[in-house]
Amino acid sequence: MKEKMYLSTRGNQQPLNFYEAILQGIASDGGLLVPDFKMPQKDLNALKDLNYVDLATEIISVFTPDDVKEDIRGLCQKAYGSGLFPKNVVPVKKAGDVYVAELFQGPTAAFKDMALSLLPHFMTFSLKQKGEDREVMILAATSGDTGKAALEGFKDVEGTCIKVFYPIDGVSPIQKQQMITQTGKNVDVIGIRGNFDDAQTAVKKAFNSQELKALCDEHHVFLSSANSINIGRLIPQIVYYFYSYFTLVKEGEVELGEAVNFTIPSGNFGNCLAGYIAKEMGLPIQKFIIASNKNNILTDFFKTGEYDANREFYKTNAPAMDILVSSNLERLVYFLCQDASKVKKYMDQLNETGKYIVDEDVMTKVKENFKAGWLNENQVLETIGECYKETGYLLDTHTAVGYGVYKQYQKESQDQTKTILLSTASPYKFPESVYQAITDQTLDEYSAIDALNETTQVDIPYPLQGIKDRKVLHTKVIDKDSIIDFIGEQVKGL
Ligand SMILES: *Cc1c(COP(=O)(O)O)cnc(C)c1O
Repeated sequence: MKEKMYLSTRGNQQPLNFYEAILQGIASDGGLLVPDFKMPQKDLNALKDLNYVDLATEIISVFTPDDVKEDIRGLCQKAYGSGLFPKNVVPVKKAGDVYVAELFQGPTAAFKDMALSLLPHFMTFSLKQKGEDREVMILAATSGDTGKAALEGFKDVEGTCIKVFYPIDGVSPIQKQQMITQTGKNVDVIGIRGNFDDAQTAVKKAFNSQELKALCDEHHVFLSSANSINIGRLIPQIVYYFYSYFTLVKEGEVELGEAVNFTIPSGNFGNCLAGYIAKEMGLPIQKFIIASNKNNILTDFFKTGEYDANREFYKTNAPAMDILVSSNLERLVYFLCQDASKVKKYMDQLNETGKYIVDEDVMTKVKENFKAGWLNENQVLETIGECYKETGYLLDTHTAVGYGVYKQYQKESQDQTKTILLSTASPYKFPESVYQAITDQTLDEYSAIDALNETTQVDIPYPLQGIKDRKVLHTKVIDKDSIIDFIGEQVKGL
């Protein structure tokens, strides 16, 4: 059988196999890696009763070499079947007429856990398959949840170590506390004097530094990233679309084969893109409803076909969706036009002028599949309050963006199709805003956790219980200009 290969969205990358794609992360021409094979149609009936690990194995092995399916099952078992997640991994709850799929039940109470619990295992497996005996050093700059989820994912994974850089004044107190109390023999958390962009720029520089590369070669080390553009973060996310749909089938809420909508609070667009791939594989999805906060660049794109990043950047109460360049949209545009030279043209325009407009034929397909809307910060708080009052379900700020945008869509379209809302964070991740939304009072983050719990009786997720009293294990703070030197020292020390 022909080997499954990966190519660049921009057309100038030698074909890579799965292992090479995972290890390389990004295409050498600056594009993103995409499968160079047609998505197979999956038999829904054969998948519908599988548990999460077995379903993940069936979906993920579409993307991996044919002879390693049982190995993939082992990796999925480690990620989703070994107690880090609840037994049903992604519980689906009801908030009025909306089904809420909770993607935040993992080891750091963040949606990022869905992919970052598996990516480290993809990496070590890929190294083994390639006969690599170098140690992987993962570098990550974080402005919030990714750092913690990556730390937890790579913690004590053999053959890897991880260095996370965060801006000391640029993450929430709880996010910081989650990171600096991280346990594990191979983890390092370093505060940076500077903002997130400083940290991110320095890490990017490290990847391009020839000096550092020579040092890594000498010490048998391989630098890699846990960045959201790695195809290894996208593939695990396809699974929960199938799983949440089958949950509704099993509960008699939808008939097998009946089309549903998905509503997705979006930022970098990785979540939604995984859903689009699920649809290509035969999951009956009618519409994707793309929800944004005040940084509503995606809303404009889905309405007009113009992606224009020349606009103000807002810091909002749904910070994981504060984004101007939504990287994974490049993959969607590629899937819709199947023309790498066109994608390259758009991306060149984006680099040069900050914007691009897709052609009519791409726009036709966009309209068939996507609807979009956005909420401002006040609407987010109102939505949390209303949903709680009307349905008893407690939304976090990001999921509230999705809920509110869906309600707008429902009203405008009168679409009666059953809809699954992907919940990307626990309300306890953003307790100040959530508490304010339901009580009109403000408290600091830690007090808000307890007060929220008392008021609503919603359980505090296990990764956040007692977090205030956890032992601080990482106190290192360095200057943004010394990140590369710091990494060099760490490489020498391995
Ligand atoms: C990352 C994240 C998002 C955005 O997801 P994308 O895949 O980047 O679109 C939304 N909400 C939360 C809480 C997140 O952490």
